[in-house]
Amino acid sequence: MPDTLNIARLGYQKTLKEEVVCEGVGLHSGSKTQIKILPAEVNSGITFIREDLIKDRKIIASYKNVCDTKLGTTIQNNAGHKVHTIEHLMSAFMGLRIDNADVVLSGSEVPIMDGSSKIFLDKINTVGIKEQFAKKKVIKILKEVSFSQNNSSIIAIPSDNFSIDYMIDFEDPAIGIQRQKVTLLADNFDKEIGSARTFGMLDEVEYMHKNGLALGGSINNAIVVDNGKILNPGGLRYKDEFVRHKILDLCGDIYLSGYHILGSIIAKRAGHEVNNKFLWELFSDKSNYEVIEENNIISQEEISFAVA
Ligand SMILES: [Zn+2]
Repeated sequence: MPDTLNIARLGYQKTLKEEVVCEGVGLHSGSKTQIKILPAEVNSGITFIREDLIKDRKIIASYKNVCDTKLGTTIQNNAGHKVHTIEHLMSAFMGLRIDNADVVLSGSEVPIMDGSSKIFLDKINTVGIKEQFAKKKVIKILKEVSFSQNNSSIIAIPSDNFSIDYMIDFEDPAIGIQRQKVTLLADNFDKEIGSARTFGMLDEVEYMHKNGLALGGSINNAIVVDNGKILNPGGLRYKDEFVRHKILDLCGDIYLSGYHILGSIIAKRAGHEVNNKFLWELFSDKSNYEVIEENNIISQEEISFAVA
């Protein structure tokens, strides 16, 4: 039976077995930053907690809280406190099917690590994941939903799986046109998507650094491309790493819906802004989707089944 059907029928919420610590530089500031990822209660979702603040420290991982989509996805709470560059960690949570976690930050950024989700995935896999006694929150796409802007578009269509078909089209011949379709199952995110790094053009990177932007961005955490050449000494991790990273970003951004999605997504030249606007479009009309297991606390009988 395809695993994705299990999410709808028999999937239980998950959290980490133990705390995980990740340290690295912030993409925006270039300064050292640390996160602790902690297990969390059922139905609590993903919450970011700024340890450097005295009050209003919590920022809920929701598409409604996205306030900036330049150089990554930034969320903020009602007090205006922000967390930057959440998308690669959110993508790791989606890929591992983690529903509930608290992310305690030393500052305002999730560290960029190696520019992919790999280190988050490896660290969480090392401590392990546990099932919880509540059913997963899943939405099923019921009809075609689309959002487009300029040259970019995202379309979702009904399906019993969760798949992403993504096309990018860059002038630089080192990237060019790439298209990849992945059906995400319980155990293939890590292998197919998780290690794909973010990327940038050398002249853009130089321009941003001169203007005080992306100070933490370097060849250590991004693929840097210059006129048909890949400047990273180790080359690429996947032949089409660029489009796979765009799928990684899309997974992280749409997980801000708070749900696992049953549907096929077709994206063209999208990015963080379009990913977010697509979610607003999806949730603007209740006939676009069906929430499965909204009342999802498991009964006594089901608990004995779940632990059997
Ligand atoms: Zn990214």
